[in-house]
Amino acid sequence: MTLAQNLETPRARIDFDQYPRVPLCHQPTAIEAMPRLSAHLGGPQLFIKRDDCTGLATGGNKTRKLEFLVGEALQQKADMLVTQGAVQSNHVRQTAAAAARMGLKCHVLLERRVPDRDASYEETGNVFLDKVFGATHEFRPSGLDMNAEAMAVAETLKSEGHRPFFIPGGGSNEIGALGYANCAQEIAEQCDRSGQRFDWLVMGTGSTGTQAGLVAGFQAIGYDLPVMGISVRQPRDRQMGAVHALTQKTLTKLNAGQISLNKIIVDDGYVGEGYGIPAPSTHEAIHLAAQKEGILLDPVYSAKGMAGLIGLIRQDFFKPQDNVLFLHTGGSVALFAYEAEILATQE
Ligand SMILES: *Cc1c(COP(=O)(O)O)cnc(C)c1O
Repeated sequence: MTLAQNLETPRARIDFDQYPRVPLCHQPTAIEAMPRLSAHLGGPQLFIKRDDCTGLATGGNKTRKLEFLVGEALQQKADMLVTQGAVQSNHVRQTAAAAARMGLKCHVLLERRVPDRDASYEETGNVFLDKVFGATHEFRPSGLDMNAEAMAVAETLKSEGHRPFFIPGGGSNEIGALGYANCAQEIAEQCDRSGQRFDWLVMGTGSTGTQAGLVAGFQAIGYDLPVMGISVRQPRDRQMGAVHALTQKTLTKLNAGQISLNKIIVDDGYVGEGYGIPAPSTHEAIHLAAQKEGILLDPVYSAKGMAGLIGLIRQDFFKPQDNVLFLHTGGSVALFAYEAEILATQE
């Protein structure tokens, strides 16, 4: 890592262009105030980092990861991206678009992870866009080791003469996480320029690359902004362990030291019945963000993250004078796979 000293601050600056990278993401993404939601909830001042507007294929957090993952794929002379996700995976949709943009083929495995969905669930939203971007797909039942499945398919494709590059689910390895270490530096620089200070960053956490990259990035540049991950799928201890492991790998890649488990902050109070199953608090978050701020959240990730933010405000977790930044990780395309229940839960 090359470290250059910024003249105004003693912080380290990471040159992310030292890693293989392709430009896919509109950046910096905007940081906006949410005054009507703040007033409605009567808590701290709320702000939103618009990573739903990263510019690729309706946007989302996977685009930042894919800059580095596709950079690595091109370095390895791949001609095809292979990845996996749930049926309504935003990661798969953004990977399909990134492949098209770079002239690569794309093959994906879709896990039937969410039970009891209506027929349109496998046709609309992200699945529809995967097809529009020209990706080929195959389904799998739930409960398999999906990364192992996708690696096995990649081996078969290789034996057929393709040059596949395997991207793990969610793009969550230490290469993909660089995208969020870069975002951490971007947030610090935006705050330097605007004079704004945040006391907390709150976000939904799933395959862990986003939270791990942010925590690693803030540590690597020496910027103090605690990151609260709201789990969208699994209990706190397991999510903390997984985020911690990838944070450590990312820090090693950045040559930026060690991190202890107690620096990883996760709340699992908003998962509901499981991955992809909205809880009442998820529905409330979708309706509040839409009607107070004109912001579209998604029912699988960002609305569970926002439900966590709302719940923490109601528990007086924050001080009234705090400034809290919510990271909008995207995903609104998945709303179309949940239309009926979202309209049915509107007040
Ligand atoms: C993938 C995803 C997340 C979670 O990010 P991870 O890096 O997998 O933890 C959050 N929000 C949306 C919309 C996503 O697609």
